[in-house]
Amino acid sequence: MPDTPATQPFTGNFTQQEAISDEAIDAAVEVLRSGRLHRYNVANATELSETALLETEFAAYQGQRYALALASGGYAMQTALRAIDLQANEPVLTNAFTLSPVPGAIDAAGGKPVLIETTSDLVIDLEHLDKAASETQARVLMLSHMRGHIVDMDAVCALAKKHKIIIIEDCAHTMGASFNGVKSGTHGDIACFSTQTYKHMNSGEGGFLTTNSDELMARSIILSGSYMLYERHQAAPPPEAFEKIRLQTPNCSGRMDNLRAAILRPQLRTLDKNCSRWNERYQRINKTLSSCNAIALPKSHVNAVEVFSSFQFSVPDFNDEQNKLFMKRCYDLGVELKWFGDKDPVAYTSRYESWAYVNSTTLENTDKVLHRLYDCRIPLTFSIDDCEQIAQIIVEQTNHTLT
Ligand SMILES: *Cc1c(COP(=O)(O)O)cnc(C)c1O
Repeated sequence: MPDTPATQPFTGNFTQQEAISDEAIDAAVEVLRSGRLHRYNVANATELSETALLETEFAAYQGQRYALALASGGYAMQTALRAIDLQANEPVLTNAFTLSPVPGAIDAAGGKPVLIETTSDLVIDLEHLDKAASETQARVLMLSHMRGHIVDMDAVCALAKKHKIIIIEDCAHTMGASFNGVKSGTHGDIACFSTQTYKHMNSGEGGFLTTNSDELMARSIILSGSYMLYERHQAAPPPEAFEKIRLQTPNCSGRMDNLRAAILRPQLRTLDKNCSRWNERYQRINKTLSSCNAIALPKSHVNAVEVFSSFQFSVPDFNDEQNKLFMKRCYDLGVELKWFGDKDPVAYTSRYESWAYVNSTTLENTDKVLHRLYDCRIPLTFSIDDCEQIAQIIVEQTNHTLT
């Protein structure tokens, strides 16, 4: 094999998201000029804030009765756990393959994460989930749709029913995705979303919590820091729902503000279009990667319509040295891969062993799955041709490294 690659180095920037639209910038400027940035700071009792309007629009988008806008996705998860009245040291079943804010949210809410194995399709292992649910008698599953891969939700819901488990969905990577023709986040009891810069809508930081339950939403709204201004929420249950819980529920400030809401409202209107754009890019990358026999790709469930704003692949045959060489070669050609097998956490990527505050036994299947698993973002600033070039570099360097 010649040392010079057939494909030119890639020069795009993997952290460069698209600009905020002029429409969203104008809406933000209007909020700034008004001086009314706090969500409850309205001119009169009938005026609806940008945040309240965003919640109504997001609830309608999800097809859920209620939505609450929050400071972050991680905060939404903490709020969901508090809303179900999680007790100190209560076990919370969750994916071993996820991002660190997930065990972090469980810990913040006083719970103990119980990590569940991962399949080669990068979803939660249902057999292990069934077993762990029996053993721990856990009351709650924090189901993380990590990197957008959606597990068989019919099977998860059947297990939840069998074990009487509440499902909280972590939809940080499935905003816009669906399963069985309905939106991801509508199968469980509560869903949490993120609008952090690298997710499917971008407000820098931000999050949502959605549910159809009057009680869970009333508690979540008070928890988010509504003071006694909950009647200013539109995507919310009637005042009676608050009466029983309003004095029993602590205010744990974590609201969204009108500035972020103002830039998210126009983004919600283009979300579906952007999801299609992400999938066009993902499909091109996957098609090219699948031409290489040494590369293994996760498969989607037939009933899932996912949104992939990043891609994952593994090269099971690499030894340690080849793994290092491959990553260096890709990096030198402008393709910065993250590796989930690294013992030490790097940037966003961490393994479950790096969460040393979590008591966990070794998870052999997860270890095997993550051992040679690579990860890469697909910002929408990349063209389809860019994606083709990235995939070609990966295929060429896989072959080059194996020969
Ligand atoms: C980003 C992310 C979160 C947390 O969202 P933040 O808004 O950053 O707190 C949770 N789960 C997963 C899988 C994520 O990628």
